[in-house]
Amino acid sequence: MPEYPENATRLAGDTYVVPGLTNAGYLDGLGIDTTGDEEAYVGVPLDTLAITHGHADHFSIAHVLRDAGARVLAARDDAALVENPDINIRGMFSWAKPSDEMTTRLFRGVPCAVDGYLEDWDDARATPIALPGHTLGHHGFLTRDGVLFTGDALYLSDLWQQHPLPYAIDPGMVAASLGTIAATGCEWVVPAHGRPVTRDEAPRHVDFHLGQVKAIETLLLEGLRDGLTTEQAVAFVSERRGLAENAAAYWLAVTTVKGYLGELLGRGAIEFYVHEHAGWWRTLA
Ligand SMILES: [Zn+2]
Repeated sequence: MPEYPENATRLAGDTYVVPGLTNAGYLDGLGIDTTGDEEAYVGVPLDTLAITHGHADHFSIAHVLRDAGARVLAARDDAALVENPDINIRGMFSWAKPSDEMTTRLFRGVPCAVDGYLEDWDDARATPIALPGHTLGHHGFLTRDGVLFTGDALYLSDLWQQHPLPYAIDPGMVAASLGTIAATGCEWVVPAHGRPVTRDEAPRHVDFHLGQVKAIETLLLEGLRDGLTTEQAVAFVSERRGLAENAAAYWLAVTTVKGYLGELLGRGAIEFYVHEHAGWWRTLA
């Protein structure tokens, strides 16, 4: 019987990283997210599967592992997204019915029943740490070996080239969660996308991410000086950040830019008004 998923590499103690498009974790029968590769888990003992958040690339084969006997746990705020991934697509389109071709692959997934909430966690193998902002219920996990799996709460500096506007529903929460990561005692930090980094290397990436959040805010404040509609604000940020021009990138940007607009509005840095039946945003002097 294999002791850990195929191709997994041991980082510290009993904690393994299972590499994939989405990195997963494994420790002594506890899985943290999944890769997309069912074969890698065949015969591996897995009693519990903890999901960082309700985006389909993080629980792609959870239904298979649950059928094989694992208990699936997710945060209260994200559990519905795991059980019904279509909610993400509906949310993206303001709950109206979207058509199939406009939806991003990342949000389409196989539903998986959730057996319990991270809020009721009682497992010495790891500790869930709330890291909201990418989604409301996003959590990281710190294993007993000092390995912190951060899901999508941290993007390494080298990833920003590829993802110049990472999905975020609440940049204020993203920044606070980066502070939580920086303050968590650990030996390794493992983001879901990218490579594991050592504790010493982590602050540089946290600071870079914080700097990018700041830069996007500054960009918006500048772009909104004479007022822009929501649609224009999305186009402005997308163009200036160098996003690819396609439907998937557009719809992700709509949510993320609205996240920034809401943050700046809440801080009193911009105003919102309706003019000629369009929503406008303008920087306050
Ligand atoms: Zn995600």
